[in-house]
Amino acid sequence: MKTIAVLTSGGDAPGMNAAIRAVVRTGCQNGMRVLGIRRGFNGLMNGDMYEMNLRSVSDIINRGGTILYSARSPEFKTDEGLNRALRVCKENSIDGIVIIGGDGSFRGARDLSLKGVPCIGIPGTIDNDIACCDYTIGYDTAMNTVMEMVDRIRDTTESHDRCSVVEVMGRRAGYIALNAGIAVGATSILIPEVEFDIDKDVIETMQKTQRTDKKHFIVMVAEGVSEKIGGVERLTKYIEEKTGVESRATILGHVQRGGSPSLRDRLVGSQMGNYAVHILMEGKGNRVVAMQKEQIMDFDIYEALNMTKSIDLGLYKTALEISI
Ligand code: ADP
Repeated sequence: MKTIAVLTSGGDAPGMNAAIRAVVRTGCQNGMRVLGIRRGFNGLMNGDMYEMNLRSVSDIINRGGTILYSARSPEFKTDEGLNRALRVCKENSIDGIVIIGGDGSFRGARDLSLKGVPCIGIPGTIDNDIACCDYTIGYDTAMNTVMEMVDRIRDTTESHDRCSVVEVMGRRAGYIALNAGIAVGATSILIPEVEFDIDKDVIETMQKTQRTDKKHFIVMVAEGVSEKIGGVERLTKYIEEKTGVESRATILGHVQRGGSPSLRDRLVGSQMGNYAVHILMEGKGNRVVAMQKEQIMDFDIYEALNMTKSIDLGLYKTALEISI
């Protein structure tokens, strides 16, 4: 391994910079040339890259986003796009690439690996929706951001005896909604993994708590559920009609992706970046770095993409029992 490259792809996540920093520093410390590729697979296809050194990653560990920028690149999925990327790898003598992103980016990593460029994926996504990992980079910061934002919403919700319906990110996965929902004391939490009935799980729960004198409410809705039920605005109107409680909808949106990464995201990003370069040095490719039970490990990308994981239903039951 003489030259390695690093890129970030798909949705950005706080902590990606910590991973980039660890990749660059581990590479440099081990005598390698490290190239930073800008804007994910787009940059790879276009040869948009620069040589990085120990100092090019100074002062980034505390910054959200990604200094390498990220992008979605439909063209890369075509044979022509992949061949262009392979040509660029050859022209720049790239012996291996660390790809920080989600499932989609790992599919790209798999394609490149199969064509002879060893790639290692690092899970960077706030949704925590990577099956082989208990934990993905960005998840902790996003949950804490949601908690802080909803705490603010709660102040005004409480002052006006209102109900706030809050939509948080998570199209396929309800990890943010469930964990942050418990942390902010939500009355109801709706996530894609658990079947629900609005009348029973939201309206009746609110009415039950009204009888014990509760006057303000938080209803936490994962994005995937919101899409399914026609949006949180609609749910909010329905709650107001049925319960008589003045209700407001808030979609937290992209604020959840930003901000200075938490300690955990900086730490796990650093560990995974360091680990990724070491397995490249061992001659491995087509692997995803993962964290299970606090241990860093790696899996074959193909196997990782075929794994499934389920949300902690015990946690969901806890939420139900203490929400009233
Ligand atoms: P994420 O990596 O966060 O899941 P995307 O699904 O948008 O984000 O994927 C990021 C990029 O990875 C895509 O723009 C594309 O270039 C590449 N990619 C996604 N799916 C595939 C695929 N099936 N085969 C090859 N490359 C893919």
